[in-house]
Amino acid sequence: MLVVMRSQATEEDIRAVCRKIEALGFRAHPMPGAQRTAIGITGNPGAIETGTFDDMAGVQEVIRVSKPYKLVSRDVKPDNTVITFHGSSAAIGGPSLAIIAGPCAIESREQVFAIAERVVRAGAQLFRGGAYKPRTSPYSFQGLGEEGLRILAEVRERFGLLIVTEAVDYESLTLVERYADVIQIGARNMQNFSLLKQAGRARKPVLLKRGISATLEEFLMAAEYVMSEGNYNVVLCERGVRTFVDHTRNTLDLSVIPAVQRVSHLPIIADPSHGTGKREKVTPLARACVAAGADGLIIEVHNDPDRALSDGMQSLFPDQFDALMGEVKQIAAVLGRTVEGIPRSELSLGASSRSVS
Ligand code: PEP
Ligand code: MN
Repeated sequence: MLVVMRSQATEEDIRAVCRKIEALGFRAHPMPGAQRTAIGITGNPGAIETGTFDDMAGVQEVIRVSKPYKLVSRDVKPDNTVITFHGSSAAIGGPSLAIIAGPCAIESREQVFAIAERVVRAGAQLFRGGAYKPRTSPYSFQGLGEEGLRILAEVRERFGLLIVTEAVDYESLTLVERYADVIQIGARNMQNFSLLKQAGRARKPVLLKRGISATLEEFLMAAEYVMSEGNYNVVLCERGVRTFVDHTRNTLDLSVIPAVQRVSHLPIIADPSHGTGKREKVTPLARACVAAGADGLIIEVHNDPDRALSDGMQSLFPDQFDALMGEVKQIAAVLGRTVEGIPRSELSLGASSRSVS
């Protein structure tokens, strides 16, 4: 159910409707839009008598949302969600593309600083890197844990990059929420419903990767889990799905980008690194993701990929990332979009900068 407020409705009208919803034992989700606020109702086992709200001040109409996902849907919020960050010009979902780059895993301070310096110069505003790695083999590198998060916090401090890093379970999510700017929930956890609910109670945006065999509806329902707990800052990420092909690690499903945008207001970015698994295919697919309308890219970059502890085969060399950024800027322009790095004035790179020991 959705209560659509008139454009002239006052804050008090909106609060009164929310109070009524809560008094009925349900949860109210006010979603302010450019024209009007809509209030989503969740937690109701069946339809609520629409007359309950019809006569309240400021109410325009009460709509039944027939889709299984509600808060994710454009019915609730017609305008695109744009996620902004306090103290940063970066945004996800706005006209400027969000470019997230960095290694698969945080391996050492030296490695991370070397990569961060290159990606920030190339125009990335957000830095990726896992401190907790969900690996197929229990014998593979599992990540540095909290030590990795501390290194990431230093990267933010030094370069002004926002930090995107993965939480794999209850304990790591608590720590990731403290250190990071965006909490990544990986493909393998897309249907870990208790983790999704915990992310929904966190106060940081969530980057939700599509499960390796998730349908569009399952993907959106996973986002609904996060939003139903009150965290409306969700970024969807297409990272490839499992198919029969063996020329790539996964098949990057570009068609899901317009499919999501048709039904949901949430931003959607794409990950051509995991989506192909092969370095030489990352740049061509990155171009295609932007052309297909992605709101951003997440790209694995490593200064020494042949010795990377995780996903070296799909990691770009920093020079390749530079070239990719040049191309992406041109493709973005065709679509009326931009790629804005961290403004030069805010970058403290160069000879005078603190050296990395
Ligand atoms: C990653 O981003 O390194 C990662 C593990 O991604 P995914 O969950 O998409 O496999
Ligand atoms: Mn990876």
